[in-house]
Amino acid sequence: MYKLLIKYTKDGWWAAILGPLFVILEVVFDTIIPYLMSLIIDTGITQRGGDIDYIVRVGGMMVVCAILAGITGALSGVFASIASCRFIRNVRTAIMEKIQTYDFRNIEKFPVPTIVMRTTTDMRMLRMAYVSIVRMLVRTPLNIIMSAYMAIKLNKSLAAIFVVVIPVLGTGLALMIILSRPRFIAMMHRFDDLNGQLKENIEDIRVVKSFVREEHEKEKFSLVSWMVTKAQRYAETMVIYDDAFFQFVMYACMIAVCWIGGNHIITGSMTSGAFMSFLAYLKAILMSLMGVSMGIMQVVMANASVSRANEVLSEIPDIDDSNADPELQVENGNIEFRNVSFKYSKHAEKNTLSDININIRSGEVIGILGPTGGGKSTFAQLIDRLYEISEGEILVGGHNIKEYKLHNLREAVSMVLQKNTLFSGTIEENMKWGNPEATHEEAVEACRIAQADDFIMSFPKQYESELGQGGSNVSGGQKQRLCIARALLKKPKIIILDDSTSAVDTDTDHRIQLALKEKLGNMTTIIIAQRVSSVKEANRIIIMNEGKIEDIGSHDELLERNTVYRDLYETQMKGVQE
Ligand code: ADP
Repeated sequence: MYKLLIKYTKDGWWAAILGPLFVILEVVFDTIIPYLMSLIIDTGITQRGGDIDYIVRVGGMMVVCAILAGITGALSGVFASIASCRFIRNVRTAIMEKIQTYDFRNIEKFPVPTIVMRTTTDMRMLRMAYVSIVRMLVRTPLNIIMSAYMAIKLNKSLAAIFVVVIPVLGTGLALMIILSRPRFIAMMHRFDDLNGQLKENIEDIRVVKSFVREEHEKEKFSLVSWMVTKAQRYAETMVIYDDAFFQFVMYACMIAVCWIGGNHIITGSMTSGAFMSFLAYLKAILMSLMGVSMGIMQVVMANASVSRANEVLSEIPDIDDSNADPELQVENGNIEFRNVSFKYSKHAEKNTLSDININIRSGEVIGILGPTGGGKSTFAQLIDRLYEISEGEILVGGHNIKEYKLHNLREAVSMVLQKNTLFSGTIEENMKWGNPEATHEEAVEACRIAQADDFIMSFPKQYESELGQGGSNVSGGQKQRLCIARALLKKPKIIILDDSTSAVDTDTDHRIQLALKEKLGNMTTIIIAQRVSSVKEANRIIIMNEGKIEDIGSHDELLERNTVYRDLYETQMKGVQE
């Protein structure tokens, strides 16, 4: 935890120093007050028989000390808050920056709800602990030392009680820490589950409603929610026990001091002023110890959060481009697969793709067909190195893809994934998301090729129409066309459309294909589809099955020699004609 503190305090360092400094001043003023009180009782009242001048003078000093203690305490709080907020902001930013370096495999390891949880609730825990550390680490030891010094000065034999109290409290505290940590980690994991359930439920609320599954979802949610409550109660009982234990020791100690101290006063070996001051110092010590215990509990809770933040921060991206040449750019859309094999998990027995060999020339339009799970998307995702291949070589623009910086490679390859998304904002803003320098005319041209211009112009605000979160204001087919236009506006050397026209009608789909072929002759186009009609215009069509290329040829060639293709085509054509 402390490593993380030092690393990310960064621009809050001055506040992290000023916070404890003001705490020191606060403790000094706090410690002086009981001493002044003993002077009023013993000197002002007892020895001088009620010297009003003396009492007012020392009383005035007490008031000044109390005001200064208040001001320095407040300032220390302000600085601790500034330091903690900046610290958390830095950790949060570091997490976001780290996630941007993740490749697909890392992203699959950390689902969205856990990342949300780790950048919000975990960070709140961490902030609370940070404030505790900044204030507590200085305040309590100093308070204990100064109060113990004053107490020993007042009465050594009475102060011997600390020899018993401190080890008892220390042992209790150590036990609490050991028992609490796993409980808090488990609690955070239950919160991850709750977030996951909530996200799924809200995101897919339309599906839930259309299947009338509200009751079922409610039950599922209450179960997860109940698990959170249980884990929370289980973890927080430790905090309650800890509190009760400290209260018990504190009051037992007070009673013992009153009893022994009372005897001292009776025998005359201690003045009542000294006894009252002793009680004040004892209270200060016990309160400090209690503060330590609460603070440590907070650190224990935050420790679980630190481990979770560290997991994200220390994840090593699978794909490393540090040795790549930053100057190397993709010159053309040639793609070559040489004996490529791939599997998602290193431990998987079977390859997802096996021994793929293909040479695609720049400007070619390639269609990929095959059964679901045949490896089509996997094949496409390897081109811009979203996953690292297990065997073989992939060349783009004549160079092995490992020679390019990921940024340069991915700038040249546009992918429209199956589950593509738009963002809130206008259509024009969404179009320029991948290429902020593009002009309005270029955006319109891209939309025309993607057959999106017509429906955009039918909206009252046309290109200035708001899309809503995730593009909720347009239909599935319109969304797909906007995603294609956005990918085109990036002016890539290679465009990959992964089932991106599945919600578009056959006629529009055909027009998109023709426009891509006619207007973007230099761009390599890869179209993955379920319908033969979506790839009919391609120069070559790849038939993929069980991770292997079964056949490659033009529509006419395949129709003539490949029975599976012919059957598929005829079945689909029959479907259209009927
Ligand atoms: P297609 O696009 O032809 O439907 P995919 O390339 O998506 O097929 O999938 C090929 C195989 O890889 C399938 O068996 C699928 O279950 C598996 N697969 C796909 N994505 C992943 C992933 N992220 N992790 C593990 N296995 C995956």
